[in-house]
Amino acid sequence: MKPIPYGRQSVSEEDIEAVVSVLKSDFLTQGPVVQNFERDIAAFVHGKFAVAANSATSVLHIAYLALGVGSHDIVWTTPITFVATSNAARYCGATVDFVDIDPKTYNLSADKLEEKLIKAKKIGKLPKVVVPVHFSGQPCDMERIFKLSNEYGFKVVEDASHALGATYHNNYIGCGEFCHISVFSFHPVKIITTGEGGVAVTNDKDLAAKMKFFSSHYITNNEELMTDKPDGAWYYQQLGLGFNYRMTDIQAALGKSQLSRVSGFVKRRIEIAKTYDKALADFKGLVKPFQLEGTSSAWHLYVVLVEERKRVFDYMRSKGINVAVHYIPVHFQPYYSALGFKRGDFPNAEKYYEQCLSLPIYPDLSSEQQDYVLRCLKEAVS
Ligand SMILES: *Cc1c(COP(=O)(O)O)cnc(C)c1O
Repeated sequence: MKPIPYGRQSVSEEDIEAVVSVLKSDFLTQGPVVQNFERDIAAFVHGKFAVAANSATSVLHIAYLALGVGSHDIVWTTPITFVATSNAARYCGATVDFVDIDPKTYNLSADKLEEKLIKAKKIGKLPKVVVPVHFSGQPCDMERIFKLSNEYGFKVVEDASHALGATYHNNYIGCGEFCHISVFSFHPVKIITTGEGGVAVTNDKDLAAKMKFFSSHYITNNEELMTDKPDGAWYYQQLGLGFNYRMTDIQAALGKSQLSRVSGFVKRRIEIAKTYDKALADFKGLVKPFQLEGTSSAWHLYVVLVEERKRVFDYMRSKGINVAVHYIPVHFQPYYSALGFKRGDFPNAEKYYEQCLSLPIYPDLSSEQQDYVLRCLKEAVS
């Protein structure tokens, strides 16, 4: 029997046809499909502008750059995230710090954020950007975070890598009501995939234009933006230092086709989560995911807390179920310890890490497979 993964893509014949049609067309990259996909994503989340790139990591980098993050700036995020969230700030040379999590939602705590802001203001070390991560697909307390952003003058980039199709106060994450830029990932385990890929969504035209520039060498063919008259029709100018972070049309075709099924994907994830919730209701010594009022998760992950996590993890793996741990607190990584972070710095995150276990959840997980996961989990915890 093939192991059951914790997450995986769901690729249809239509997806394959969409990719093949690009392969047969004139442009594999920088053709019309990326723009089309960007338009579709923006329309889906009800945001104004979307900028696609070759990964969400790249998108985070250009989002921070567009907001002006540099080596004299400070960026705060949560320790319970994938390292990319903070690494992208380090690419800008910024100082990274973390805000501990809420012990119920496992998201960056708005209370802890406020406490930390009060202290930072006193010593003149306020962050330029704060990056809440919608962990597992459940939106953070964005209204409060955004209110703090207005009060303390920082910008908000939401790392929505897990949260395409999630809603906050009945609006899709990405609509930009309570942040400046939203970032989505299209890695195969995420809600939809482009193989590798990501997108930024913003309602700020200027930020969108900057991110687009950063994603493609900061080069323009637009005469109006040039410093002097073009030498001829071949002419372009590089106006800043950008990167080659472009998404290909091959990837965008897959993403566009996948996006047409996103509602079904999220619906199925919600169904699986509900089945887990119900079945686990009377499991002793196990904590189910808590849902914040006014939010609807995209259920990228279904995380339970168990005692003796290592034993339960090993047991599930021995049964062919590839449960996972999301995440090792970022400040535990040797790279971050070397920057001065220590064990004990973020107690809620560290306590969470001792017990967390991600169970399989993805659209093509069958009821039989889920029953099997539940059976094995019952054996492991009882
Ligand atoms: C997956 C992920 C990323 C990075 O996404 P890539 O597209 O793989 O670069 C960043 N942040 C979070 C929270 C993620 O889960």
